[in-house]
Amino acid sequence: MPSDFEAQLRAVSLRVTRPRLAVLAALRDHSHVDTDTVIALVRADQPTVSHQAVYDVLRALTDAGLVRRIQPAGAIARYESRVGDNHHHVVCRSCGAIADVDCAVGHAPCLTASDDHGFAVDEAEVVYWGTCPGCATERNSQ
Ligand SMILES: [Zn+2]
Ligand SMILES: [Zn+2]
Ligand SMILES: [Zn+2]
Repeated sequence: MPSDFEAQLRAVSLRVTRPRLAVLAALRDHSHVDTDTVIALVRADQPTVSHQAVYDVLRALTDAGLVRRIQPAGAIARYESRVGDNHHHVVCRSCGAIADVDCAVGHAPCLTASDDHGFAVDEAEVVYWGTCPGCATERNSQ
């Protein structure tokens, strides 16, 4: 599987480095994780990697389109490796849990704006806010 990540990096003209491979591996196994979590995951494998190195890797991978950065209002930035499909997120107001939501079923993808005002649209940011099942259960049992 490392060769898979190496190919991804080469495809966007990024040098193959161990921290970059480790971040890609971490995001393959964990979705919507914040920077601290990525650092912890990378360090489990490479204890000497600095915080700054992980920040730099996340920025480079995000800029190259291999990683997507999402930041729901009022929340810290999270990262995921599911890119290129303009999927949306549902966020729990209580605990901050995040799940993927595909574009609305039965409707044209919201990237097709009803009026784009001449802009070349490449992203539609839709966030569904609510209460996750875990928090709803907790609330009901109180
Ligand atoms: Zn919750
Ligand atoms: Zn997602
Ligand atoms: Zn949509």
